[in-house]
Amino acid sequence: MIDFSLTDEQRALQQLASEFAEKEIAPVAAEYDRESRHPVHVLEKAHQVGLMNMVVPEEYGGAALGMLETCLVSEELSAACSGIGIAVVANTLALTPFLLAATPEQMEIFVKPLCAGPNLAALCMTEPQAGSDVGAIRSTATLSGDRYVLSGTKTLIDNGGVARLYCVFASTDRAQGLRGLSAFAVPRDQPGVSVGKHEDKMGQRAINTSEVIFEEVELPVESRLGEEGQGFDIFMKTLNRNKAWIAASAVGVARAALAEATRYAQEREQFGRPIASFQAIQFKLADMAIKIEGARLLAWHAASLVDRGVHHALQSAIAKCFASDIAMEVTTEAVQVFGGYGYTREYPVEKLMRDAKAFQIYMGTNEIQRYLVSQELLR
Ligand SMILES: Cc1cc2nc3c(=O)[nH]c(=O)nc-3n(C[C@H](O)[C@H](O)[C@H](O)COP(=O)(O)OP(=O)(O)OC[C@H]3O[C@@H](n4cnc5c(N)ncnc54)[C@H](O)[C@@H]3O)c2cc1C
Repeated sequence: MIDFSLTDEQRALQQLASEFAEKEIAPVAAEYDRESRHPVHVLEKAHQVGLMNMVVPEEYGGAALGMLETCLVSEELSAACSGIGIAVVANTLALTPFLLAATPEQMEIFVKPLCAGPNLAALCMTEPQAGSDVGAIRSTATLSGDRYVLSGTKTLIDNGGVARLYCVFASTDRAQGLRGLSAFAVPRDQPGVSVGKHEDKMGQRAINTSEVIFEEVELPVESRLGEEGQGFDIFMKTLNRNKAWIAASAVGVARAALAEATRYAQEREQFGRPIASFQAIQFKLADMAIKIEGARLLAWHAASLVDRGVHHALQSAIAKCFASDIAMEVTTEAVQVFGGYGYTREYPVEKLMRDAKAFQIYMGTNEIQRYLVSQELLR
């Protein structure tokens, strides 16, 4: 049986996120975007009301909720501002390697203190020369007695400049390529860890995206998550689990663009009547709504597969790819509905268009998602 209805608890959570977005995010969205400012005060409030670390088990300070609930929240937050919304929800991504591979002791040491406050974690895989091709990363973690020595530079890391904990992927055996990658928990205050360039991004500017540098960082063996060589597997599972809420965030951005375009089309008059009376505009709005509805259902479906613990790689890739593509299409069409004003910073649709673009690039570019889908088909 397929049931698309939400429970009372899920609707209440959605309502909480919607009210939070309206009260705490929407009023500061334009300013934080303009200044590319880290939304520290919003994070403090989000933590207070329980919108951070939702998928972490309760004994470690989370809410033990599922990916579907994460989708509901991230759509609402990103409808107000995806830069801030993703900053709030991004711990879900960065802590997934811990949920997948950490021992109870590692959860106590690394995750519990993090979740006790409005603290951030960051997932560090990408390097200057290695994006889609993660097998090309040059970071190394070399075992020396009872410690690893970690060296490398990670780039384009969300929350990278403000995180208290990093999950870092490095090679423990260069000869093994992808099978030689391992995952490590690295506290920010460990000697040798520093923050490099803050990226001046096109969109999603409120989330801090930075370079993170590791120079001969000494880590106890107990910092390794899982076994040596399991890093690539942990990384792929992490991405697959989290694509659903990224898709839902893209839906939030698209939904906001549709709302803005619908309102403007009813207000703006040309040729003596509202532009909403022209079928060309009506059909644009209708196409936007059709795409948003489809993308949301794909995100929810992928999330429900994650929550049921069944195979979700294909549906996650489809949801992420489709939702980010339609977010780009819908926001571009919203700018078109606004005409020349849409191209100015006076109206919010240009921001939505800039914000939408990021979804097509991170968590694996959409070319890589299409590759993954084709591989599932051709197996
Ligand atoms: C806003 C933002 C936030 C990010 N946050 C993080 C983060 O928190 N942690 C992290 O580790 N990384 C993060 N990234 C990095 C992101 O994961 C990479 O940008 C992404 O994986 C693409 O890598 P690249 O930028 O090096 O592009 P490249 O891999 O160089 O790709 C360039 C182009 O070539 C295409 N291409 C590459 N290989 C193939 C192929 N085999 N077939 C077809 N086309 C191909 C790509 O699709 C793309 O169009 C973030 C990026 C952005 C923009």
